[in-house]
Amino acid sequence: MEFNVLLQGNIFFGRGSLIKIVELSKHLGKITLIVTGKRSTKESGALSKLIEYLKDIGVNFVLFDKIEPNPTVEIVEEGGKVFLENGCESIIAIGGGSSIDAAKGIGVYAIYKEITPFLIQEKTLDKKIPPLIAIPTTSGTGSEVTKYTIITYNEKKLAIASPFITPDFAILDPELTLSMTPNIVRDTGIDALSHALEGLFSIGATPISDLFGYEAVKIIYKYLPRSFAKKGDFEAREMMYYASMIAGLQITISGTGIVHGMGYPLTVKYGFPHGFANALLMPYVFKFELPAQYEKMAKITELLGFDTGDVFSDAEEFLNILIDFYRILELPLTLKEVGVKEEDLPAFSQEVFKNERLKRIAPRSPEYEDILNIYKNAYNGVI
Ligand code: NAP
Ligand code: FE
Repeated sequence: MEFNVLLQGNIFFGRGSLIKIVELSKHLGKITLIVTGKRSTKESGALSKLIEYLKDIGVNFVLFDKIEPNPTVEIVEEGGKVFLENGCESIIAIGGGSSIDAAKGIGVYAIYKEITPFLIQEKTLDKKIPPLIAIPTTSGTGSEVTKYTIITYNEKKLAIASPFITPDFAILDPELTLSMTPNIVRDTGIDALSHALEGLFSIGATPISDLFGYEAVKIIYKYLPRSFAKKGDFEAREMMYYASMIAGLQITISGTGIVHGMGYPLTVKYGFPHGFANALLMPYVFKFELPAQYEKMAKITELLGFDTGDVFSDAEEFLNILIDFYRILELPLTLKEVGVKEEDLPAFSQEVFKNERLKRIAPRSPEYEDILNIYKNAYNGVI
């Protein structure tokens, strides 16, 4: 056994834990930048509660509440300028993965006064961003504990991966997830599942990341349908929140894979939520990867209690379990039924094929033709 694992960040988890922000005052400085979306944290009351706590400890704040799903370079630069103009000393991100990712990008801008060179891999970070506290309100990305930020630049979703952007503190208060609608629960929850599965199958996986991955799969399988079905099921919401966080720790070690790479163009072109786009691809990508990862797929089948004792049929069964799970969650199974145009698939495949990092960590490195075939199978529903 041989591995190198770096996990960072101080995690507070628990009902009502938003109040932990008061214990972090010395990390916030005199003035902090709150980064959040346009509506949900106002409607749920989360933002006003946070502001109340900041007032209690005498920390001033500037509110940057312009984050939309799949944040762009432009909005990150605007936030970075607000940070600098106001002399902010720290950042609090409260919201979904988009707000947390944007906050990481704003942190990069605050230090370097630019972000694009890092996204296009022209430069790498060599300095830590200002203190960042991440307070997630969705159960999907795990961004509150990951070393990634995903920002849209020139119609492409690009990533920065660096330990210098991992949040210093993650405050996970499951009450903040109670306001999610069923569709947000589902689309973010399936993102967490895609992290757990891609993380397990990635060649960057280690025994430690696998611990998180198998545990996250078990929890998501049990609790996502409950969380989707019923708004008031606190236990299910809490467990999904936990699972998405541990899957975040997992992918910080293992990376994700081509499900993510192939999902990005679908989100950019068609506006599908990130997790929903991943869901459209998972069964087809995993069918392609099955010969390289059948033992892990069989192990998942066993963990979920459906094993037959034969490793090859158990690996195949994993795909059936996934598809049955989609039915419970009312997820579509083909690109065709959600209006994707078949003629877009070659350009999407080109874009994914150019991503060297994804190909490196994929358990079965795909050629251009393989990627196109996976898209076509997903289009037609051929597993
Ligand atoms: P999101 O884009 O942050 O939010 C989706 C929607 O959910 C928004 O309309 C938001 O409204 C709403 N919302 C958030 N919390 C809510 C709540 N508690 N109640 C009601 N509505 C709520 O969704 P996300 O899936 O969490 O984040 C997706 C982004 O993260 C993508 O850009 C993806 O690429 C990225 N991602 C990052 C990582 C990473 O490691 N950094 C990993 C995976 C994915 P408001 O806008 O009004 O708040
Ligand atoms: Fe994701």
